Amino acid sequence: MAVSSYIGRFAPSPTGPLHKGSLLAALASFLDARANGGQWLLRIEDIDPPREPAGAADLILQQLDEHGLHWDGPVLYQSSRLPAYKDALQQLSEVGLLYTCYCSRSRLRTLGGCYDGACRSNKLHSHISDKPYAIRLHLPEKSIIAFNDLIQGPLAFDLHKTGDFILWRRDHLPAYQLACSLDDGFQRVTRVIRGSDLLDSTPRQLHLLSCLGLAAPQYAHIPVLKNAQGQKLSKQNHAPRLDSSNVQTNLLDCLKLLGLSPSTELNTASIQQILAWAIEHWRFSHIRPSAC
Ligand code: GLU
Repeated sequence: MAVSSYIGRFAPSPTGPLHKGSLLAALASFLDARANGGQWLLRIEDIDPPREPAGAADLILQQLDEHGLHWDGPVLYQSSRLPAYKDALQQLSEVGLLYTCYCSRSRLRTLGGCYDGACRSNKLHSHISDKPYAIRLHLPEKSIIAFNDLIQGPLAFDLHKTGDFILWRRDHLPAYQLACSLDDGFQRVTRVIRGSDLLDSTPRQLHLLSCLGLAAPQYAHIPVLKNAQGQKLSKQNHAPRLDSSNVQTNLLDCLKLLGLSPSTELNTASIQQILAWAIEHWRFSHIRPSAC
């Protein structure tokens, strides 16, 4: 059998235990990787210590294991990658793409989510004061990013709608866009499957990958699970932790949300049998993008 060059990944932030919404993203990326004979990597995005309760990363590993979602190779912890993120900043700074931004949170709030480039004339290493600063990426004039999402279809975004974005935070932490793009490149990920709440990050990550000279993966954004108030299930919205005593039911519920129709016989099947059935029946065409 030919060896597949497919590399997929699940990349949770350890801000708490997995809930049903995060299981949905883990399962979709796992099934797609396995259905394509590919590798499925696990990356713990632990770059925001103030938001990471002790033990959350270990709990996530345990929950994935309990659900039969076994990853390939060692886990990559982003907290071990700080030197690589700094090297990437250096690379971008050498080609003049970075600047320091001293704008306060209150000023940024007045901009309605679109940065106006007010700090663009700042040089990266000429700190004008002791004020905290972030590091932003200077976007080019032409900023339309088009890509074909494997679930949502062809999409195009104008990066100027959100403006020059942050790569290094004013609290001295790497920003998600930098760490995620660089590590998708570093791990040679060929396909990213994740929730549609991250859809607006994709054009920024595609642009950053291109600035860094890294190959872009394909993307597929699945619908996100919402609570009764229509908000995305998340730790901030107090989504309940996955019930470990109901692993089969958790998996079957997620399969239905991914458009599969498991037969009632699977209600009494083992985790391995459920996953084997799901790998065989997995298709993007079953997923309703409109549910996003
Ligand atoms: N770490 C991000 C999160 O947990 C996901 C990153 C990604 O899949 O690109 O929301």
